[in-house]
Amino acid sequence: MSLDPTLVRNANFINGSWKEAQGGNTLAVTNPATGAAIGQIPKFGRAETADAIAAAHDAQKAWRRLTADARAEHMHRLCDAIMNQIDDLAILLTTEMGKPLAEAKGEIALGVKYIRFYAEEGKRIYGDTIPSPWADRRLLVTKEPVGVAGAITPWNFPNSMIARKLGAALAAGCTIVIKPSEFTPYSALAFGVMAEKVGLPKGVINIVTGDAAAIGDEMCENPKLRKITFTGSTRVGKLLAEKAGRHMKKISMELGGNAPFIVFDDADLDKAVAGAIASKFRNSGQTCVCANRVYVQSGVYDAFAAKLTAAIEAELKPGNGLEAGVTQGPLINEAAVEKVEAHLKDALDKGGKLQTGGSRVGNVGTFFAPTLVTNASTTMRVAREETFGPLAVLFKFETEEEAIALANDTEYGLACYFYTSDLGRSFRVMEGLEYGLVGVNEGVITTEVAPFGGFKDSGIGNEGSKYGLDDYLNIKYACIGGLGI
Ligand code: NAP
Repeated sequence: MSLDPTLVRNANFINGSWKEAQGGNTLAVTNPATGAAIGQIPKFGRAETADAIAAAHDAQKAWRRLTADARAEHMHRLCDAIMNQIDDLAILLTTEMGKPLAEAKGEIALGVKYIRFYAEEGKRIYGDTIPSPWADRRLLVTKEPVGVAGAITPWNFPNSMIARKLGAALAAGCTIVIKPSEFTPYSALAFGVMAEKVGLPKGVINIVTGDAAAIGDEMCENPKLRKITFTGSTRVGKLLAEKAGRHMKKISMELGGNAPFIVFDDADLDKAVAGAIASKFRNSGQTCVCANRVYVQSGVYDAFAAKLTAAIEAELKPGNGLEAGVTQGPLINEAAVEKVEAHLKDALDKGGKLQTGGSRVGNVGTFFAPTLVTNASTTMRVAREETFGPLAVLFKFETEEEAIALANDTEYGLACYFYTSDLGRSFRVMEGLEYGLVGVNEGVITTEVAPFGGFKDSGIGNEGSKYGLDDYLNIKYACIGGLGI
């Protein structure tokens, strides 16, 4: 199993050409499982980003005039090219990000589903006619692409976080400038390789790597770019929202979470354990929808803790994601491991009891053992902060009201989960939780056909589903008079 060298592009994709940074500045990219160098990507600043935006701006004039059908054909061809090379793309993704190969493949396939969904949804961008209060005029509402979109994406889903923005943008008639994380640029640049392969019109997709703050500033201030779509931390999201606000740009913000996972006394415990494993430990705990706080009702607390410990020990295997049987890849970098260590130490210092895991794995790479701590309390850092690693903590609660209050006691509002066999409770709790995504007896709920977005500090806007297109469209009202009627 080896990397396809034609997919490792050490150049940025602008207006259909591969470009290096002015002055040849680069950033190094390494494999988190081995520490080995993968390559050097261009370190773009504002000037090169402005070139990319100008290319996208020029390309958008023709792209928006294509029929939705013609845009869909281009998008499906792009998806065909991705699916033809999904094995190579998955190796690339695992090499730069670390997740197990099967998860990498699943992510890319989901990314394709987003693009194909939007290729078709673009044909259903309907407008309205409004009954006119004037007898001699007719009122029309149409929807138009916002223009050039700037997408800034994180490292934890290097393909699908781009695919769901790109799919909606292109279907709406926008062109796009994508800035991936410096840790996982190659999966992003591979979209350029695929676009080139299928002859996507030049400038429709542009990809820039480099100085994140400089690229972000140019996107926020350049008048040719009309929308910022960001996925990443709440800290950076707020910075960008503030800057974009000064230039009145449309924004979508998919930000951090602190997901509660609630297990009621009447839950199917085996299902709840399977859900907790999937929700907490997928991608080694590095997803924005990962369970961060597990609340278990007192009557089943000990039984659930014992079953979860057994499942962690039996089912989860850390290692290089390219190796068969591995379920837990490395964390993205040393800082990520240090954050897990700090949260764990804090939890143990404050009375937490270690059930399993608790330490790094091996001497190479950034691996951390899947870890479970019981006897958690609200004073612990994990109660407030997103750990973003393979640390699960179990809190005990007594009543439904208490569980809802504890779950909502956070500034975040992205995903939440709960397990119960009581139908009435399902609705009461679902309606009581202040979250954009709710898993009821399910630990993994993301699909391209449903909206994905957070409340409170977890963001603004939605991705996926018919709702995700709105963020790339402007509404235009036309009053048509002079009809002589
Ligand atoms: P991050 O540090 O906010 O980085 C996200 C992106 O922003 C990266 O491309 C980064 O570039 C860029 N960036 C950093 N500083 C910037 C600045 N000053 N101006 C403009 N861009 C800047 O987040 P991360 O560590 O990559 O991702 C993890 C976070 O993302 C978690 O909080 C997670 O919950 C959240 N997330 C949310 C969702 C969702 O849909 N709600 C999905 C996935 C992840 P560099 O990497 O090159 O510095």
